Amino acid sequence: MLNVLTVPAFSDNYLWIIHDGVNAAVVDPGDATPILDALNKHKLSLIAILLTHHHSDHVGGVARLLQHYDVPVYAPRKDPIAHVTQPLDEGDTVSIAALDLKLSVLDVPGHTLGHIAYVAKEQGWLFCGDTLFAGGCGRLFEGTPAQMLASLEKLAALPDDTKIYCAHEYTIANLRFAMAAEPGNDTLAARYKTEQAKREQGLPTVPSSIGLEKSTNPFLRARLPAIARQLMAEGRLDKQDPVAVFAALREWKNGFR
Ligand code: ZN
Ligand code: FE
Repeated sequence: MLNVLTVPAFSDNYLWIIHDGVNAAVVDPGDATPILDALNKHKLSLIAILLTHHHSDHVGGVARLLQHYDVPVYAPRKDPIAHVTQPLDEGDTVSIAALDLKLSVLDVPGHTLGHIAYVAKEQGWLFCGDTLFAGGCGRLFEGTPAQMLASLEKLAALPDDTKIYCAHEYTIANLRFAMAAEPGNDTLAARYKTEQAKREQGLPTVPSSIGLEKSTNPFLRARLPAIARQLMAEGRLDKQDPVAVFAALREWKNGFR
């Protein structure tokens, strides 16, 4: 029986530890210290490192973890990352025998060009780094709006009950923007209240689920007329094509306070 531990780091990152009570794999260890602490506290032995993209808040702890544990490092082939032993592309499967864990790899370019996501089909888990967030999506540092839209739609095609383990707690700010983009969405307004209550108690809003994101995340709703209408009302859109809608949404969010 596998579990996922939430390890907060920096100001708003989540690092993830997948474990069976004995062995553990870590996803996106941007900082080694909280990972080593969690491994010690739960008496876990690290057997694999999994990376989604090259940003330092996701890979910064790898070198120090490798000083303590000689383990394979799985990472996207197309992102520049040190210490990688197992470069991955879409269609690859990561098999971690000691955990009886299989992860399939999806290419999800946009935030970075090489960004990948890991799907544990049997468990219904998605580890998607900075691609899909609860209520939002990652910034386009390297890719185009068309690439990011295609990446998000690939993730949205996963089963609705798939749990989304994204890498940041950005949910409240994301949902504030979502409500501006789609003011008539009652499910979204209700979600905002639920997530706010969690944050007031110091609880994470992550993992989210694909079903919840499809009903409330504007970046997964770029094909809906309501979103295009709102963008037009804001004077941010002049043609109704999904990539233009997505690009206008992302632009608006970049400057939204
Ligand atoms: Zn990033
Ligand atoms: Fe990040």
